[in-house]
Amino acid sequence: MKIKKNDNVQVIAGKDKGKKGKVRFAYPREDKLLVEGVNFIKRHTRATGGTRQAGIIEREAPIHISNVMLICKRCNKATRIGARILEDGKKVRVCRTCHEVID
Ligand SMILES: [Zn+2]
Repeated sequence: MKIKKNDNVQVIAGKDKGKKGKVRFAYPREDKLLVEGVNFIKRHTRATGGTRQAGIIEREAPIHISNVMLICKRCNKATRIGARILEDGKKVRVCRTCHEVID
């Protein structure tokens, strides 16, 4: 996964195109991300045992990783991610726009 939890991303496709948000969860096996404020879906709920209110709640649903781009902290642009291997062998992500190391 090129995008991780707590990254800031911009949506580049779908109904939320242009929206920005923070990644709350990453689902590497499905290549999906849960992004704050993005991809709200309506879910109908039924009152169960008096603990939950019946009605419609809106909540975020995971979106596919290919629908978002990482926002670089340095240049503040939605960017493609490259990889670089440091001298100590550690692999890091780099911004393809400003070539800065992201993490
Ligand atoms: Zn950058």
